[in-house]
Order: sequence, then C-alpha cells, then structure tokens
Amino acid sequence: SSGEAPEFDYLFKLLMIGDSGVGKSSLLLSFTSDAFEELSPTIGSSMIDLLRVGLESRLIGLRIVVIGANVGSVDCSTNGVAIRISYVMYNPTYPQKLVYGVDFKVKHVTLGGKKLKLAIWDTAGQERFRTLTSSYYRGAQGIIMVYDVTRRDTFTNLSDIWAKEIDLYSTNQDCIKMLVGNKVDKESERVVSKKEGIGFAREYGCLFIECSAKTRVNVEQCFEELVLKILETPS
Ligand code: GDP
Repeated sequence: SSGEAPEFDYLFKLLMIGDSGVGKSSLLLSFTSDAFEELSPTIGSSMIDLLRVGLESRLIGLRIVVIGANVGSVDCSTNGVAIRISYVMYNPTYPQKLVYGVDFKVKHVTLGGKKLKLAIWDTAGQERFRTLTSSYYRGAQGIIMVYDVTRRDTFTNLSDIWAKEIDLYSTNQDCIKMLVGNKVDKESERVVSKKEGIGFAREYGCLFIECSAKTRVNVEQCFEELVLKILETPS
C-alpha cells in the first residue's frame, strides 16, 4: 500500500467468531491474500512484553484495554522499537501479563457500486478461553459465525454459546450475521448436513453459506453476500 489514506465510501467492521480450529483464520487469509492491503501481526509474546514495559502504567486496573480506534491501529515506540498494534486484551486471570492479541486484516472491495474498506477481525486464539467481550463486538456491522461441517460440537456451540454471546455483547441492532459451514472439501467426513445449517440460519435469522477455505469454494461469496446485505440494510 502507498501509506496514504485510501478513498472509500464506507468502512465496515466484520468479525469472525466460532470455535478454535473451524478455519476462521484460513477463511480470512483466503479472502484477503489476493489483494492484500495491510497486515496487523498477531501480537506475539515478545511484542507483548515490549508493550508492557511502555504501557503498563496505562493498563493498571483495567481488564480490557483497547489502544487506538475501534478499527484502527496505532504505531508506538517502546525503547526505540517501533511496533504497530491493533488491539490488546488484558487477561484478568493473570493481571501481570498481557497475553492475547486480536488480529485484523483490511481489504478494499467495490460492491454494489460502492468502494468499501473492510476491517475483518479475527480472534487470534482467545476464543478458546471464551474471553471475547463487548470491545470485540463494538461497532461491528457484520458477524461471520463459522463452524466445521466435520465437527458437530462446533455447530452446537454456535447456538449454545456463540449466539448467546452475540446477543449479549453486540450493541448494534442492525448487525448482519452470516452462518458459515466450512471445510466442505472434506465431504466424506461431513457430520453436519446442509439442511441443518439452513435450519439454524432460518431460526436465528441470519444468512447461510457453506464453503472451503482450502479450495476457496464460496469464500468470496461468503464475505460479499454479507457486505451486500449490510449495504441494503438501512442503518
Ligand atoms: P481457526 O482456529 O478457526 O482460526 O482455524 P484455522 O484457520 O487455524 O484452521 C484450523 C485447521 O483447519 C488448520 O489446520 C487449517 O489448515 C484447517 N482448515 C481450515 N479451513 C479448512 C478447509 O476449508 N478445509 C480443510 N480441509 N481444512 C481447513
């Protein structure tokens, strides 16, 4: 990228949620890698330590700290080392340590005659600990709920856990949801039928698609259908 602020008509924040291992990062990579604009690195532990040194004083007493704008990133310099971060989560169980990062990628697309900047957030692993909170959901126009068609638990967890969490934390009433059954390339191992996916989507009032991050089948459609629906929805 040129480093200059790109022109766009709308900026949308999209979230990827779902159990660990369902393919969230792979889908995001598959969608963004061809026309990749920016990468905010998953925050590694060494960066976290650097950050801690520089920013500790601002973190004390806070459980979750968002540095920078909701969908922006911030460049900081600690001990002369320049680093870029998008978001930092403070683990209340280990108050002396910052342990998780949230990663997001940006992609520019033109859809429905509009130039769009998509900031797509991925959870960088902390979904395992079920510690995503309102900061992650805040301001999102779209939520991509991913399960693995070869693992039933990842499907039932969407209704048992993730849907409840969305209802609890997502403050945007107009937020559009897309249910995604991933890994359809593993057809012989499939345990969740397409019909069940359609059924849950109808019940929950969301869009639905099946795809494969591996073969890229329906990956673009997944993001594009969601964004087109967001564009159609008056806010
Ligand atoms: P995340 O934890 O939800 O972000 O899942 P990852 O993107 O890290 O994927 C977990 C594992 O599933 C990795 O080994 C991926 O290579 C694999 N995977 C992801 N998507 C697909 C897919 O569509 N098909 C197949 N066969 N494997 C996939």
